[in-house]
Amino acid sequence: MTDLLLRDVRLLDGTGAPPAPGTDVLVSDGLVAAVGPTGTVVRPADPDPGALRVVDAAGRTLLPGFLDCHVHVSSLPGADALATVLAPESLLTLRAVPHLSATLDAGVTTARDLAGADSGFREAVEQGLVRGPRLQVAIRILSVTGGHGDWRTVDGVALDTGPGAGAVADSPAEFVRAVREVIRQGADWVKVAATGGTGSPRSTPESGGLSEAELRAVVEEAARHGGVGVAAHAQGAAGIAAAVRAGVRSIEHGYLVDDATIDLMGERGTWLVPTLATLTRPVAAGAPPWVEAKRRALREQAGERLHAALTAGIPVALGTDAGVVAHGSNLAELALLVEHGLSPAAALVAGTSGAARMLGVDDQVGTVAPGRRADLVLTDVDPLTSIAALADPRRVRLVVQDGRVVKDTLADAERTPARA
Ligand SMILES: [Zn+2]
Repeated sequence: MTDLLLRDVRLLDGTGAPPAPGTDVLVSDGLVAAVGPTGTVVRPADPDPGALRVVDAAGRTLLPGFLDCHVHVSSLPGADALATVLAPESLLTLRAVPHLSATLDAGVTTARDLAGADSGFREAVEQGLVRGPRLQVAIRILSVTGGHGDWRTVDGVALDTGPGAGAVADSPAEFVRAVREVIRQGADWVKVAATGGTGSPRSTPESGGLSEAELRAVVEEAARHGGVGVAAHAQGAAGIAAAVRAGVRSIEHGYLVDDATIDLMGERGTWLVPTLATLTRPVAAGAPPWVEAKRRALREQAGERLHAALTAGIPVALGTDAGVVAHGSNLAELALLVEHGLSPAAALVAGTSGAARMLGVDDQVGTVAPGRRADLVLTDVDPLTSIAALADPRRVRLVVQDGRVVKDTLADAERTPARA
C-alpha cells in the first residue's frame, strides 16, 4: 500500500478542537502514522521504504471520515412499493451498489444501516467486493402487530419477506426470541419500533410501539449478547420516554421528545439521532394523502422539540435516513443540525468522534490521531464558516478509507494548487 503525506492541511481533528493550520498528516499501513506541524513529520527510518504520495493540500481542510448512523443502503428513495415487492432479491441487492458508492463519495467512511442490509453487505465491503462505508447493520426492525415494521396487508398477507422485512412480535418473550433471531443473522444492532411513524399505514408517531416491558426485554436480551445496543425508532413523546427508561442506546428521529425526557437522556447518556434530512424533506409527488397529512402535523412541532434537545447538550450523532432521502448527500445533515441549534463545531463532532463513540468504534475512527485508522476527508470547504457547502459531494475532494485513497478529484487541483 502506498504511504500518503497530506502536507500543509488545516486540520479539524474530530474532537471539537480549534482548527490547526499548517499541519502534516502521514498515513502508513492503513493508519494515521504521525500528525505535526508542516515540515516536521518524517517517515520512520525503513531500509526498504515503499512508495509515498505527497499531496500538497495547502488551503484545504482535513477531517476524519464521517459516520452516518442512520442509513438504509438497500432502499431506493421514492421506489414504487409494488415494484419492490415483485423484484427479485438479487436486483434489490445489486441496486444498492451505487448507493454504497455514493455514500462513500460524500465523505462517509462508516455507516450504521438500520434495516434492509443484511450482514452480507457488511462483509462485502469488508472484503473489498464493493466500495462503500464500512457497515454496522441492524438487518430488520422489530415491531408489534400493526406497528411500524408490520407491512402486511389488512388481510394479513406478508408483502415483504426479504432481509429488510419487519419482525413482528407481541410479548416480552416473543421479543426475546426476535432479538436472538436477528443476532443469529449477524446483526450488530437491534432496531425496534418504539412508536409508529408517518411512513407506515396503520401506526402514528404516538401509537403502534412496543410496551415498556417489551422494550426492557429487548434491551436486556441484546445486552446479553456481548453488549449489543438497541436503536429505537421513536417519534412520539410517550414512546421516546419509554425507550429511554428501558435503556436503549439511541433514539432515532426523537421528533416529539418532551423536556423531562431530554433531561433523562442527558442523565443516562442516551444518544439522539435526529434525522433532520428526513424530517425536512418535501413530500414526494404522488404520495398517498395520509402521508402528507401525517408529515405536516409532525413537522411543525418537531422542529421546535429537536431544537430544545440539541441545545440541551445531550449526546447527538449524525444520521440521515438516506434511503428515505437520497443517497450521497449525507453531509447535508450537518447544516440542518446547525439550523436546529448545534454550533458548526458541535455538528462536526456529531458526525465524527461523537458518532464513533455511539457506535463503539472511537478507538479506531472518528478522530485524526496517530494510531487511528486512516479514514480521512479533504475538502475545499471551511466547515466552520460554510458547513452547508459540504452537502455537495463535489466539494469533498479526497476520501481515504483504511489508508487507501478511495476518491480522488485532486489531479487537476495538483496541477493548479489551491494556494494560487
Ligand atoms: Zn430509517
